[in-house]
Amino acid sequence: MTHSRPEYRITMKFGGTSVGDAEAIARTADIVRQARENTLHSVPGIANRQVVVIVSAMSGVTNELIRAAHSAVEGDEEAVVQIIHGLRVRHIDTLASLALEDSERFGLEGQLDALLNQAHSLCRATAVLGELTPRGLDVVSGMGERLSVHIVAAVLRARGVPAEALEATELILTDDNYGAASPLVDKTRERTRTRLIPLLENGVVPVITGFIGGTEVGTPTTLGRGGSDYSATILGASLDSDEIWIWSDVNGVMTADPRVVPDAQTIEMLSYAEAAEFSYFGAKVIHPKTILPAIQREIPLRILNSFNPGHPGTHIVAHPQPNGRVVKGITSIRQVSQITVEGRGMIGIPGIAARVFTAVAAEQVNVLMISQSSSEQSICFVVPETAVPQTLHALTRAFEFDMLRHNVEHIWSQDDVAIVAVVGERMRGTVGIAARLLGALAENEINILSIAQGSSEYNISLVISADQVDRAVRAVHTTFDLGQVGG
Ligand code: ADP
Ligand code: ASP
Ligand code: MG
Repeated sequence: MTHSRPEYRITMKFGGTSVGDAEAIARTADIVRQARENTLHSVPGIANRQVVVIVSAMSGVTNELIRAAHSAVEGDEEAVVQIIHGLRVRHIDTLASLALEDSERFGLEGQLDALLNQAHSLCRATAVLGELTPRGLDVVSGMGERLSVHIVAAVLRARGVPAEALEATELILTDDNYGAASPLVDKTRERTRTRLIPLLENGVVPVITGFIGGTEVGTPTTLGRGGSDYSATILGASLDSDEIWIWSDVNGVMTADPRVVPDAQTIEMLSYAEAAEFSYFGAKVIHPKTILPAIQREIPLRILNSFNPGHPGTHIVAHPQPNGRVVKGITSIRQVSQITVEGRGMIGIPGIAARVFTAVAAEQVNVLMISQSSSEQSICFVVPETAVPQTLHALTRAFEFDMLRHNVEHIWSQDDVAIVAVVGERMRGTVGIAARLLGALAENEINILSIAQGSSEYNISLVISADQVDRAVRAVHTTFDLGQVGG
């Protein structure tokens, strides 16, 4: 991206582990200071950089808030009290371990208490109503970010960096699809620029809640679990940032989930398309929607490790230099089920596939992968396991008459499966990748339930039994030599 403004601007997001305790928060504050002074991943010829910070809730806090809301609706007031108490202790203890002026700390304790009291009241109201709406859950689950921004901003100020905590409810305007809201791009851009550019021009670092947004009438929403990455690119793009940095707890996007494959290596560069495939097919280090706002304005992204800040991590750009590898990495998605619609009478009847996916779309079910046998006798697709009952119900209703006529004979789900996907832009036009992939799985006696080549041809995805996923990922990783340094 060309640099059209005197100041270089970086929008950076810190995930839950990067603000998980006092030590991590102190490290995060140092990173922000160095990024601002251009002494970390520096750009030559620039004295200062404007920095915008987005933070997640402290690790585990969102889960606890969601547990509190569910306990409330189940009438377990005791559990709610304990969860809120636990959160208070954790945040107040964190504050106590950070070197802050007494006056700053007292003020902060008051702010944190007020937010936690609000969370408690919301849980009480949920208990009284006996109902937890998606809208109510968004208010409670978004509290963690509203807590952490105050702490991070205070620690920055204590290090001499002017900083102001802000809530994204007033910046990221969204629709009212609670739990997975979508941003209203133009309005968000206008709000964000009006509110943040004056701060940046005055040298202030805005510290903004990730994960949450608000409707036009101000009702809080969330962007979906893990959505702080998305907040970063929404805000980063709105501000025409020169770069967007996502700080997590791993050295960038790796050739496989390092928890599954110990010799996984950092991938130095990915294209936007490859990064989108990685995130879509389960590389948790980037939320699936993250890449889109960055592509639209061609903003380079870096995925970095706040526990190892000097490591170059992964650079995500429009046209990366080839690294000589056709397959760049392997990912997996668990907790999914494969739905099959089958019948000999389906052959040659036009529009069956359209009817299948219309019925599924009406239920707003997210279809992760589709495959159709060449004989046209069946259509298979994969959905999150939580969506199985409604999907089967919708299909049975839509094909009621076809089933009576035996054109469609069976509609069923196979549970406990997983998707495994290999990703790489150069797979397109490279002969033999699928053969090597299938060979590796056959050698390891892994049975393939279905296979699909993504329409982008940047991935090949397979459905296998969930209990064989780790073995499959390791086997494929070895077959494509992904454990060798230099990926
Ligand atoms: P944060 O809280 O910082 O957003 P996440 O837990 O959401 O962090 O994402 C980071 C985690 O993603 C890593 O700790 C790692 O276990 C997991 N992960 C899964 N696949 C990959 C991959 N291909 N590369 C890097 N990390 C991955
Ligand atoms: N705190 C939110 C979550 O746990 C958002 C995020 O961490 O990205 O889902
Ligand atoms: Mg995350």
